[in-house]
Amino acid sequence: MAADLIDGKAFAEGLRGRVAEAAQRFHKESGRAPGLAVVLVGEDPASSVYVRSKGKACREAGMESIEHRLPETTTQAELIALVESLNADDMVDGILVQLPLPSQIDDKAVIGAIDPAKDVDGFHVVNAGRLAVGEDALVPCTPLGCLMLLKDRLGDLSGKDAVVIGRSNIVGKPMAQLLLGESCTVTIAHSRTKDLPDVVRRADIVVAAVGRAEMVKGDWIKPGAIVIDVGINRVDAGEGKTKLVGDVAFDEAAAVSAAITPVPGGVGPMTIAVLLRNTVVAARARLGLPKEASL
Ligand code: NAD
Repeated sequence: MAADLIDGKAFAEGLRGRVAEAAQRFHKESGRAPGLAVVLVGEDPASSVYVRSKGKACREAGMESIEHRLPETTTQAELIALVESLNADDMVDGILVQLPLPSQIDDKAVIGAIDPAKDVDGFHVVNAGRLAVGEDALVPCTPLGCLMLLKDRLGDLSGKDAVVIGRSNIVGKPMAQLLLGESCTVTIAHSRTKDLPDVVRRADIVVAAVGRAEMVKGDWIKPGAIVIDVGINRVDAGEGKTKLVGDVAFDEAAAVSAAITPVPGGVGPMTIAVLLRNTVVAARARLGLPKEASL
């Protein structure tokens, strides 16, 4: 393997440490800890695990974790009423409604009900719009985590050719906006893109956020490129076992790229660390406190 491994786990630990210090400073300044409310509707096992680990990470960072678990049969009106009560609660700085929601509830209506100042997932159209026009915004956690890893590795990204594969509102689009904000030349590729391998071959920076196991091959990667693999795919590992792989064929891509994130241990650990970071950022902004330079 020629490439350096981009250790997202180590970077995320460092960020969580800085968040914990910032949470302490906030406590001293405001007399209370930053508070994150996480809402889970239904019993989806993966969502349950995410919500539990978000709560644990929150408490470890010295922040207040408020969990609301609602039954699968919850109506949209009931969920929006809870969101509105959290909007009005001064102890709550961040609100996260775990997706996906049961089919009787419209995600957009619920996200739209969250106070944009508390929208630590960065999914509200106000935050998406602010990001698009280059204003201060709460930015979706996974793409912001990817950007932090890229800047840590490369410093200035200005003028780099970046290709983002995937155009979801959660990862691909905000990732492209962030890279544009860093003055990269950005291409967004997606399921209808023609000649995807050729498009990817132009990139100094490749961010893959597709959800297809090992789709991006080594011979698509320009020698010396940086590869950020957002994909999380569970595949058969033989003998009745499974394993996690990314959207990039890791061994092939590692042979030609300058640096690459592994799966697991790359982008994954960044998401929760950035969620905690966003909560402290939201808490400070709500109270009109100056920004934390360390975050
Ligand atoms: P999504 O399904 O919403 O979007 C996938 C995108 O990939 C779409 O825009 C689609 O156009 C594109 N696409 C599909 N097939 C393609 C093809 N053959 N060629 C090119 N593009 C294609 O998914 P998402 O929510 O953006 O997530 C993408 C991946 O990232 C998933 O594996 C998900 O599990 C993972 N993810 C990881 C984290 C994390 O914390 N590490 C967070 C969010 C998502």
